[in-house]
Amino acid sequence: MIQINLNDTECAFQYKSNRILARDYWIFNLMHYNRLVNAGLRISSILIQNKLSLPVILGVKPTVFSLFCGGTSLEKSINKIEHLKNYGVGTILDYGVEAKDRDEDFDKTAQAIIDAILFASSHPSIKIVSSKFTSLIPFPILEKIHSGHELNIEESERFDKCKKRIFKITELAFQNKISLFVDAEESWIQNGLDDLTLELMRKYNKDFPIVYNTFQLYLKNRLGVLEDMIAIAEKEGFILGAKLVRGAYMEKEEDYARAKGIENPIQISKENTDRDYDKAICNVLNHINNVAVCIASHNEESTMYSTKVAAELQIENNHPHLCFSQLLGMSDHISFNMAKAGYRVYKYMPYGPVREVLPYLIRRAQENTSVSDQMGRELQLHQIEMKRRKLLVL
Ligand SMILES: Cc1cc2nc3c(=O)[nH]c(=O)nc-3n(C[C@H](O)[C@H](O)[C@H](O)COP(=O)(O)OP(=O)(O)OC[C@H]3O[C@@H](n4cnc5c(N)ncnc54)[C@H](O)[C@@H]3O)c2cc1C
Repeated sequence: MIQINLNDTECAFQYKSNRILARDYWIFNLMHYNRLVNAGLRISSILIQNKLSLPVILGVKPTVFSLFCGGTSLEKSINKIEHLKNYGVGTILDYGVEAKDRDEDFDKTAQAIIDAILFASSHPSIKIVSSKFTSLIPFPILEKIHSGHELNIEESERFDKCKKRIFKITELAFQNKISLFVDAEESWIQNGLDDLTLELMRKYNKDFPIVYNTFQLYLKNRLGVLEDMIAIAEKEGFILGAKLVRGAYMEKEEDYARAKGIENPIQISKENTDRDYDKAICNVLNHINNVAVCIASHNEESTMYSTKVAAELQIENNHPHLCFSQLLGMSDHISFNMAKAGYRVYKYMPYGPVREVLPYLIRRAQENTSVSDQMGRELQLHQIEMKRRKLLVL
């Protein structure tokens, strides 16, 4: 059995040339030690809104965009997809468009997902396409469904139209055996997404996990919901697709709860989130015949814990119901060392015009400016590899 060594930076960064390694080292350096990149991206956003896109393209595209995104289109992402494939790492395509509310935008997003599925079907290292249902369904409708209120006639008709688009997308994914990840967003729209993904799984996940719902374990109630869904999948005989994440909307959740005067749905501590994340890993791996899981995390302990539990349960490293995923440009030490050990690993690859993915890049910059261990870690790992390659002497 191959030992996993997450400290092996040679393996982690073997896919980066000296030039790219040095560039990324400086990008992480700038992001970590000052707010220049963060501020630069915000200015870029304003420039783009004022149709001044050339300076943005010149500044952002060869730097942060190139680090965190595949390309400005599917075709322009091919080189990166092929490059990752050479090191045993697959790709999850993520059309980088954020929530919209007009029907023509929903049509556009649906078409982009369809294009991604067709593109994936002719590239063997792309087995998964990611989606955000808030780019396909109006947010107020999802909010109303979540709160248990009935939709009026107009809303019902609109929702039916959205569902038709989603079923068309999923049917295509099913025919091409490409999985569709449904991202989790705000907790106050989640019930509708749970119902819809269950409906899709009942139809399309009978023999193969096409649809994956996302479980945010920073929410106090999500472990329970996951357990209920595992029971439903076992009883009804379909495969539950489960992407496990901790959750990315902590501040927004807190603000919302405060504004509404309701209990904050987020766990009271990081330890509680970690505890539920571990329990979720344990639960899904114990039901591996009925659950297909993606451990979507940059946390080293969670990753190693998953491998330990899987080994105890004699689940082989490349089991078709087990995979790991990290964002492109982050936690390469996990992705590439896990791939080397024979696990199925995918990089989450956003793509699309620079102006469309700017909100995503701003979020990455914010994370990297924070003082959290995880972000300092990217810089530190690049530094170790720079020194190993003798590109840095200090
Ligand atoms: C491939 C991929 C797909 C993703 N998809 C989604 C998605 O669909 N929806 C989504 O919301 N996020 C998604 N994320 C982001 C994810 O939820 C996390 O924000 C991010 O990965 C950091 O968590 P971590 O597991 O990597 O590890 P860590 O760095 O160990 O954990 C950080 C996380 O712990 C939680 N946390 C931190 N402090 C506290 C506290 N005081 N109390 C309680 N909890 C706390 C927060 O969730 C925080 O993000 C995705 C991440 C990846 C890698």
